[in-house]
Parts: sequence; structure tokens; C-alpha cells
Amino acid sequence: MSTETYFLSIGALSAALARGELSSVELVQAVIARTEAVETKVRAFNSYDREDAMAQARASDTRRAAGRALGPLDGIPIGMKDVIAVAGQPLTASSRMLEHFVSPYDATVVKRLRNAGAICWGRLNLDEFAMGSSTENSAFQATANPYALDCVPGGSSGGSAAAVAAGEAIASLGSDTGGSIRQPAAFCNLVGLKPTYGLVSRYGLIAFASSLDQIGPFGRSVDDVAHLLGVIAGHDPLDSTSYQVEIPDYRAEIARRQGPWRLGIPREYFGEGLDPEVAQAVQKAVAFYQSLGCEIKDVSLPHTEYGVGAYYIIATAECSSNLARFDGVRYGHRSKDAKDAVDLYFKSRAEGFGAEVKRRIILGTYVLSSGYYDAYYLRAQKVRTLIRNDFLAAYRDVDAILTPTAPTPAFRRGTKADPLAMYLCDIYTIGVNLAGLPAVSVPCGFSQDGRPIGMQLIGQPYQEAELLSIASAYERAHGWGQRRPVV
Ligand code: GLN
Repeated sequence: MSTETYFLSIGALSAALARGELSSVELVQAVIARTEAVETKVRAFNSYDREDAMAQARASDTRRAAGRALGPLDGIPIGMKDVIAVAGQPLTASSRMLEHFVSPYDATVVKRLRNAGAICWGRLNLDEFAMGSSTENSAFQATANPYALDCVPGGSSGGSAAAVAAGEAIASLGSDTGGSIRQPAAFCNLVGLKPTYGLVSRYGLIAFASSLDQIGPFGRSVDDVAHLLGVIAGHDPLDSTSYQVEIPDYRAEIARRQGPWRLGIPREYFGEGLDPEVAQAVQKAVAFYQSLGCEIKDVSLPHTEYGVGAYYIIATAECSSNLARFDGVRYGHRSKDAKDAVDLYFKSRAEGFGAEVKRRIILGTYVLSSGYYDAYYLRAQKVRTLIRNDFLAAYRDVDAILTPTAPTPAFRRGTKADPLAMYLCDIYTIGVNLAGLPAVSVPCGFSQDGRPIGMQLIGQPYQEAELLSIASAYERAHGWGQRRPVV
């Protein structure tokens, strides 16, 4: 095998494993060696367990030797955002609050990956409790962008993106509440999919804002993402919001669906604040689809401008409730010098949570408090419905919507100290979560100075097969995602 085994696609790796040209032990060794070579620069992992990964690899090789290989993911190391529970592994959410917590059970997505033979590899860094857009809010470390080491990898799933981009994992899982898979995918030259709300079980995901959170895959190609989605998607009785829906063979659907499609270009996503290099790259992608025979239509999503405001009311309200469980009593950080029970709550939370998490809990508690509930929370819920209706109206005329993923390429660490400036990173991704839709970020070029640019394709509910087909048509003709970083 090539010396850069860690950069091969899932398709190539599974073929090599099936032919006996590569063992899972060799593959995992290559990924560990790569990780040890670049991790001091990238800092994507909160922790990793070499012995555990090697034991999983040996089990995979043994299975295969006995003729019982479990499918294309068998033996392939997949990185896990450190909010997804893996039994026996740390589960920190990049927070002091959970610094010493070890998960007693597997998330459903992890169980499904294990049943497919995949190797759960490492605990990937994030903004504390997934709140942020740069991974600088981690209580432990700031992850670097492999394509520009002084820049952020995006967030909150910055570790999940950086690890895959740098060859420290073959693919990974992240979570997306307002853009946390798509924006880091765009910053790190990856394909990142936020599935339709309800397609993937949230059981075993540390909750941030439960009506918005979805787990989804990062990969270096549409095909790698399709491989993972096919395994993690599907109804789960342990998540009451998971949906009963037939899961297609995504890869077969991508091969079968050739377009042409009707694509909507929402004018609200191309206004003020959009970096000219990003705008140009996305416009070129639009022209490409036109050259394929796709029908390109101007559409309007008129309530877009209220998205960020509504999101920061709904997400904070839900997080103030979800994070109430971290009180120092049952698990997580417990203050050592509390005088009584109330003091224990105060001190444990004051010591355990970082500044951004506290800001959101305070904001969320405020918007839910009596007297303000109607003015803020209720109104935000109404805006949410209007935003969803905007999308559904647009889908009367188009199959999917094409936008930039983020207004700029990756920015330098330490340059967005103002929380509002950070919140505006998500203006193009938040509406999708509010509306519960699927969306994928696809590499679509580079800035002059070599930072990746991503475009976002937004689909109709549960139409991931169509969405990935549209993404694949672009990817086949361009291959931006093949450009590897020099770390
Ligand atoms: N950046 C957004 C936030 O800070 C989205 C985060 C996410 O999707 N988890 O809330």
C-alpha cells in the first residue's frame, strides 16, 4: 500500500482490506503513526487510546480471516467528537465539568458503527458543549486548521474536521446544532453532512439544543460520507424524535441519479458580509450546474435575517434546560469547598463551565423567565415556523438550494473575541437547523492564500440521497477535496 494509507478513501481501503493487501492492524498503525507525527501541530484530539484501537483492529482482522467481515467499514478507524458516548472512553464535551467523566455506554451511532465493524478512534476536540464556531471555546486546547495552522478549523466540531483533513482519522462523526458540521467541513476542505432532523439517533449525544442537534459524518469525499450515513441513519426506539423512514442504499442512489436538477439560489445568502473569494467560488459552482443542464432559479427566503436572532433564543433556552443536570451532585465536576447544597450547585457550576457556556445559560434562562417568555421564546418559535415555511415554499420550484457554507474562509485564531462576531459565522447554516432540513458542505475551491472554501447544498426533508447525488456530480468534475494539506 502507499505510504499515505491514512489519506485513502473508504472505498479504496475496504477493497484493499477485502483483497488482503492491507490488514486493519496495518491501517490503524498507519493512522496512529500519522497522528503522532502531526498532532502536536493540529491538536485535534482530546485523547486517544492506542491499545483499544489496536484491539478493535485485531478483532476485525480475525473476523475477516474467518470469512465473517461485516462490510465496507470493517476495520476502518472513524474519529468521534467528544460529545458522542463510547463505552469505557472519556466523554468530556471539552469542558472542565466533564473532564474526568468516562461513558458507561455506547451512543446508538457508535453501536451501529461497531456492528458494521468500524473502529471507534479517539475523542475529538470541540467548542465546550458544542457552543462556538472556532473550537477556541474548548476548555483544553485550540485545534489548528491543517490547511493554515494559524487559523481555526471552524467549530464546534473542529477536531472532527481537522483530524480527517490531516489524515489522523479516515472519517469522523460530529454534531450540528447551527452549523457545527458544515462550517468546519468548509474550513477544512471536507464533505460534511447535517442530516434531516430525526434521521440519525441522538441517543448518547450530549444534548446542547435538542430540537436542533443532529449527528452527522465528515469525510474526504461524498462517497465516504455516504458510507457512514448508510450505517448511522435509521429509526431508534431510544430517541423519541427519531423518525420511521426507509433508509436507501445511498451509494447506489448516487450512482443512479444523474440529474439534471432544479437548483434555487437564495438572494438573501449573497449579500453584505460575504467574502468576494467565497462568492466567486460559489458562483462558479452555479455556472457548473448550469452547464450540466440544471435549471437555476432565483429564490427568496425572506425571513433569513431573523435566523441568527431566533436561533440564539431557542438554542440558549434549550441549553439552559439541558445543562441544568450538571449540578455537582450526580456526575461531573463537584466543588471541593461548598458549605451546603445550594453552595455546591453554585460553586460546581461556576468552576465547571467556561465563559461562553455561562453566557448561554444566563441568556436562555432569561428568555424563558416569566414576563419575557412571550416576548422572546414564543416569538422565536414563530419565526422558526416562518423560516421553515420559506424553505418549503421554495421547494415547490426547486429540488435543492445552493449557498455558501460560511461567509468567509477560516479566520485566524484569536481574531473573533466579540461573541456576536462569532455568532455571525453561522448566518448561512442556522436556518437549516431551525427548519430541520438536511444540508451538506462540499469543497468548492481555495482562497488565493490557500484556505479552503465550501458551498452548501440544502435538501428537502429525508432527501439525503438526492442531496448527495447533486454534491457528487460537482465533486466528480472538480476534485477540490483531493488537495491535501501540508502539515
Ligand atoms: N456556532 C453555533 C453555536 O455556537 C452552532 C454550534 C453547533 O452547531 N453546535 O451555537
